[in-house]
Amino acid sequence: MKRLMIVVPCFNEEEVLPTSLKELISAVENLIKKEKISRDSGILFVNDGSRDRTWELISKAHKESNYVYGLNLAGNVGHQNALLAGLNTVKDICDVSISIDADLQDDVGVIEEMIDKYYSGADIVYGVRSERKTDSFFKRFTAQTFYKFMSAMGVKSVYNHADFRLMSARAMQALSLYKERNLFLRGIVPQIGYKTDCVYYVRKQRMAGESKYPFKKMLSFAFDGITSFSIKPIKMVTALGAVIVVCSVIAFIYTMISYFMGHTVPGWSSLMISIWFLGGVQLLSVGIVGQYVGKTYIESKERPQYIIEEFLNHDKKS
Ligand code: UDP
Ligand code: MG
Repeated sequence: MKRLMIVVPCFNEEEVLPTSLKELISAVENLIKKEKISRDSGILFVNDGSRDRTWELISKAHKESNYVYGLNLAGNVGHQNALLAGLNTVKDICDVSISIDADLQDDVGVIEEMIDKYYSGADIVYGVRSERKTDSFFKRFTAQTFYKFMSAMGVKSVYNHADFRLMSARAMQALSLYKERNLFLRGIVPQIGYKTDCVYYVRKQRMAGESKYPFKKMLSFAFDGITSFSIKPIKMVTALGAVIVVCSVIAFIYTMISYFMGHTVPGWSSLMISIWFLGGVQLLSVGIVGQYVGKTYIESKERPQYIIEEFLNHDKKS
């Protein structure tokens, strides 16, 4: 029997944690009873620098239950890095991990199916939302636009899959080789290349507390995802530049022909438009290129992705 570790990143989740704890513990107990996972399986809660009582709740649960493990990060590093911290921590002590959000919007009920698919040979099993009825129209729309835009930009990612996924130990080992600071797991995991599979579920509403991904964060997440995986935007800017050059040459030829035919093209507004347009395009282009330069700068420093303050463990060694 294999040892399962469920990894749960938590940022200011005191409102949902008590419920999530109960549900996850009973899920693990249930799987142990069915002899699908070993008795030393558990749940690792990663506290991503929360400012509320999240860590207190985790440490208390760790004392009360043999299934609860806790990882306290020294500061807030964001969902993706917190998740990576959790996966890197469990990769050497378990056979298989499942990552899930603390608000349990993803269906704990399909974990068993994930494990079954793992036993039948998949190294990575994606949890995919079959519908999004409970999400607000706005969330659904922005999320779906995001997935479509990503694939248009050439980023390979699984449609309607967030960070609810199963990974085998060797898939986690492979993941730990990716050292980038601008971490976009949904793009990296498909690049690993092991055998994958999917399970489908209906995404629920957040039980309590509010989304830690407001629009602004979502936008920067999407932007990060694209610029970390694709240089298509730079190519597009280059193409746009070429098109504008061609247009201006045509306009120049047209003006010259008119001039020699005896009438000049009147008006200065067309002139202003072209100046503003070109200025705008240039600023935008420099901005996009700048984003990549900035990223290179951040990566070149090779700063740690996260710092661990404390690891609450039930294993005797370590
Ligand atoms: N989260 C985190 N660090 C952050 C922001 C979020 O660890 O800086 C966690 C959060 O606690 C939750 C998960 O990431 O477990 C997803 O966040 P949320 O449910 O708010 O996102 P949404 O479902 O609204 O996209
Ligand atoms: Mg959520």
